[in-house]
Amino acid sequence: MQQVIISVKELTKQYGSFEAVKGISFDVYEGEIFGLLGPNGAGKSTTLEIIETLRTKTSGTVTVNGFNLDHAPNDIKKIIGVQLQTSGYYPGLNLVELIQLFAGLYNRNIDPMELLGRVNLRDKAKNKFKELSGGQKQRFSIATTLINEPKIIFLDEPTTGLDPQARRNLWDLIREIRDKGTTIIITTHYMDEAEKLCDRVAIVDSGRIIALNTPDQLIDDLVATGFERPKEVKMANLEDVFIHMTGKELRGE
Ligand code: ADP
Ligand code: MG
Repeated sequence: MQQVIISVKELTKQYGSFEAVKGISFDVYEGEIFGLLGPNGAGKSTTLEIIETLRTKTSGTVTVNGFNLDHAPNDIKKIIGVQLQTSGYYPGLNLVELIQLFAGLYNRNIDPMELLGRVNLRDKAKNKFKELSGGQKQRFSIATTLINEPKIIFLDEPTTGLDPQARRNLWDLIREIRDKGTTIIITTHYMDEAEKLCDRVAIVDSGRIIALNTPDQLIDDLVATGFERPKEVKMANLEDVFIHMTGKELRGE
């Protein structure tokens, strides 16, 4: 039996008279990569930010690593890592200085170069954040979530806008972080990504969870209804062509 690390029960969020989250319940297991999928406006970010203690909920119960959100939000803050919006970084500081700044805020003693090495950004140590490519920016912001050695990290659309190589590179990084024991909650609009990366996914639509299972089981369930995809006539797709021609290695770095 897997250990539950996040438990969300009957969570609702009202923005004025609009109910963005309509009674969501789910558990996240320790050590898994859990995906929240769903159309724009489904309520994914709202749900995540409530668990992250960054937004207030309207009703429901949230427990993170045994800490109740209503009673121990500060205990929750200490054990989670949240990928900040990119605009939040001081423009005048280089990557090492930014990491030192965060480490100071968290009261942690960490080696910035070691951390930059983990996300393959050692050679950008003296660069400013704005000088990084899209993929590098995402890797750096993931690095910042690791500074307090969290048990859980939250990644809200970390691969949106990245080229195919940078996306794959980020998948490897996310798997490495999970393999070291960190639980990961991620949102994405790329279903191929969710299928390859996530142990389990919840599909959210209009503030409700309409499905929750392993990608494999969700696919099998659909096939069992008699669903049949139009036959693939080709053995490769355009993404295969792109990767084959431009190589698997990272570009624009
Ligand atoms: P998702 O991340 O799934 O795209 P969000 O959680 O960002 O969805 O938004 C869910 C719904 O709540 C959307 O209809 C959005 O417009 C609305 N919403 C989000 N934040 C606010 C806010 N601060 N005030 C009012 N409505 C909001
Ligand atoms: Mg969102």
